[in-house]
Amino acid sequence: MSRFRLYPSLAQRNALLEQCKHARYMWNVALEQWSMWTRDKGPTPGYVEQARQLTEARAAFAWLREGSQTVQQQALRDFDRAVKNFYSGTHRRPTWRKHGLHEGFRIVGPQTNRVVTLNRKWGRILLPKVGWVRLRLSRRVPEAKSYRVVRDRAGRWFVAFAVIPQPVPAPGTGEMVGVDRGVTVSAALSTGELLICPALSEREKERLKQLQRRLARCVRGSNRCRRVKVAIGKLHAVARDRRTDWVEKTSTDLARRFDVIRVEDLRIPQMTSRPKPRADPARPGAYLPNLRRAKAGLNRGILANAWGGLVRRLEDKAAGRVEKVDPAYTSQTCSSCGHCAPENRESQAVFRCVACGHQANADVNAAVNIAAGRAVSARRETPIRVSPKREPQHATSA
Ligand SMILES: [Zn+2]
Repeated sequence: MSRFRLYPSLAQRNALLEQCKHARYMWNVALEQWSMWTRDKGPTPGYVEQARQLTEARAAFAWLREGSQTVQQQALRDFDRAVKNFYSGTHRRPTWRKHGLHEGFRIVGPQTNRVVTLNRKWGRILLPKVGWVRLRLSRRVPEAKSYRVVRDRAGRWFVAFAVIPQPVPAPGTGEMVGVDRGVTVSAALSTGELLICPALSEREKERLKQLQRRLARCVRGSNRCRRVKVAIGKLHAVARDRRTDWVEKTSTDLARRFDVIRVEDLRIPQMTSRPKPRADPARPGAYLPNLRRAKAGLNRGILANAWGGLVRRLEDKAAGRVEKVDPAYTSQTCSSCGHCAPENRESQAVFRCVACGHQANADVNAAVNIAAGRAVSARRETPIRVSPKREPQHATSA
């Protein structure tokens, strides 16, 4: 994705929001149809049938006809893609698009090339049913077959062109690096470097909490409620911008410096998904605590550390040079002698081998194991007391 900031006028902003509304409406209708599937009713309409229904609906309803057909059709096509991704197991189940949260639409075809350069810094782009919108030329506009127009929660508009970035050439030194991803330290390298993804400062976090408390007291739908939501959205946008920046810089740096990059093969979707409810066997109909709040904190920690993003960008930039290693026992195994025991892990930060006395930063030790791609045997003398899969600790995920 290659993103540019858009600067629409007030009238254009309203027109853009109208388009977003159409795209959201089509998506939600498609989702509703899809979720009406039952065993006896048979299959629900697919993309082709839905596109035909859209043509009929456009003939019947003036408000739909006023919108762009491309935008509406693409929303259906996007939904179709989302369903396919869901069935192939790479993505989660498509969810409802919400007003204020999911504002965006997609354009495909020759119209995507309608970008005009005005001067060194500014250009304009022709958006269907909206007109020429100014955009900031922060870099060269790529040749792309599709783009998305989105509004973030802070109210900023962007156009994002779908392009696969140019892969970074390998240095050719044969050097290999292991990357251990964590919560306190975002990424530890086997070279001993500790990289920290910038998040919100303590003051910003405090302000976010304050705003969230204020939002809880607001009357839903009031002006005050809307203002507080925008303020919260701005803070989230700040955090996201910092994270994206870190992910981009770190992935480019790693792709430039190393020939082979080894990362843990973590199942982030599973780790961040909602924990299952636990039924209480003693009281029918009642539930035991399932640590949902604790996991929510952990999830935020994971997302804040941008794990998924880093690996995805590494795979783009260092295509074919990223290897995924089974993360089991990497945090408990000594990178010097190979002794594997939970006692090796003296604390969250310190690793001290009980067999050879090797001492290191716990994350760097794990990164060295990942770099070695060490296939650690699961045999052990003592029965398993701790989860062998390394998961970050709750205490450090605030
Ligand atoms: Zn050792």
